[in-house]
Amino acid sequence: MPATNLVLFDIDGTLLRTEGVGIGAMLRAFTTLHGDRGFSFAGVEIAGALDGLLFRRVMEAHGLPHHDEAHGRFRETYRSELDRALTPEKIRQMPGAAKLATELGARGAAVGLLTGNYEETALIKIRAAGYDHTLFPFGAFGADGPSRRHLTPVAIARATAHHGRTFEATRVTIIGDTPLDVDCAKAHGCRALAVATGPYSTAQLRDAGADLAVEDLSDTTELLRWILDA
Ligand SMILES: [Mg+2]
Repeated sequence: MPATNLVLFDIDGTLLRTEGVGIGAMLRAFTTLHGDRGFSFAGVEIAGALDGLLFRRVMEAHGLPHHDEAHGRFRETYRSELDRALTPEKIRQMPGAAKLATELGARGAAVGLLTGNYEETALIKIRAAGYDHTLFPFGAFGADGPSRRHLTPVAIARATAHHGRTFEATRVTIIGDTPLDVDCAKAHGCRALAVATGPYSTAQLRDAGADLAVEDLSDTTELLRWILDA
């Protein structure tokens, strides 16, 4: 039976946590490429942001060029810094996420990623956390658009290419841990399932417009019903 439901998972704070290793690897990449200029993300909202946008903000703040070639060098250096730093003890899965993704796939839902991470570093994190990366065979990533809202149609188009069918917006559920995840769903008529395993509470996520906000993803039975009975 062809998939009628599409479920898109955010990574940081939703599938896993890296306890600051990802941010640390990014900052070391800036220093490796441009010397010690006191790089930081002070004053930049990181949760829910796109890696490509974070790169641009930091480079602009230091008066450095952020053209494609500089971006490519940064991505490559960040990838190797993250690969080196992300040992299994520094990353953990969020409760229930692996089981939920697996059960959704087993019930015929299309499952993919919608994340601010670059594609290559998304894969490093997913694997380091012990996920079977084939659970997420397509996705939209942090260099696919200027803001998270732009990633939603990209992810749906890639789901269509992968599964050979279209998905109605009302059958698309986006799972994430920040108001920006909620926004990128609601802006396109999709359903927003918010989870409080990141920096925001269920009350804050409900205020942001989430259709459902839960403490974590461990109530598999109830979440499967909510997602698949859309
Ligand atoms: Mg997140």
